[in-house]
Amino acid sequence: MRYDLDRELALGWLRAAAAAVERRHEELTALDAAIGDGDHGSNLRRGFAAVIAALDALPADASPGTVLSKAGSTLISKVGGASGPLYGSALRGVGAALPAPSADLTELAQALRAGLGAVQKLGGAVVGDKTMVDAFEPAVAALERAAFDGFTLREASALAAEAAEAGARATIPLQARKGRASYLGPRSIGHQDPGATSTALLFRALADAVVS
Ligand code: ADP
Ligand code: MG
Repeated sequence: MRYDLDRELALGWLRAAAAAVERRHEELTALDAAIGDGDHGSNLRRGFAAVIAALDALPADASPGTVLSKAGSTLISKVGGASGPLYGSALRGVGAALPAPSADLTELAQALRAGLGAVQKLGGAVVGDKTMVDAFEPAVAALERAAFDGFTLREASALAAEAAEAGARATIPLQARKGRASYLGPRSIGHQDPGATSTALLFRALADAVVS
């Protein structure tokens, strides 16, 4: 069990994320086939496989921020779809905010808020647009609340994962206003957003890595 975000937890998070993408890429692709172009699962699968390979080349004393920034740069260079630059910018934003060898829950929440800011700066989406922001924002807010309330990283990361999952489910009745799904207009209603779903998977991977 981990109490701070250090290099080992950053690595564990990315490994758990890659394993979850590997397990669930077909589901992500099926969601994207309904309201996009059916490549979200394969985009992330290719991207996270490259992330895992890139981590081996990092120096043994890399900070958690360096680990996460490297993952972000790798996603930007390996994933062609919208999600590669968006997740890549998010991870680079998180990484840039974590230069010290370890970060407590408050610092982790601040770093993830910076990562969300990078996604919103690049993509211009707000909550309710039916994108990854609909899962990302409530997850960060849950972490911030948990930090304020003095919760442990274990409790906080579980709450963040639940908030992200609820946010992803809440995209179902929405009409997409950003990304490819927005081209469908009202026909995007009734489907869960693939990027919000993968964001929930990434927050669940963090919660799993914290307790492993
Ligand atoms: P593409 O749409 O280029 O095929 P992906 O299928 O990999 O890329 O990713 C699609 C997901 O990206 C969407 O489900 C949505 O969550 C997210 N997305 C698309 N555009 C934006 C945006 N402007 N802001 C935030 N997220 C976005
Ligand atoms: Mg797609």
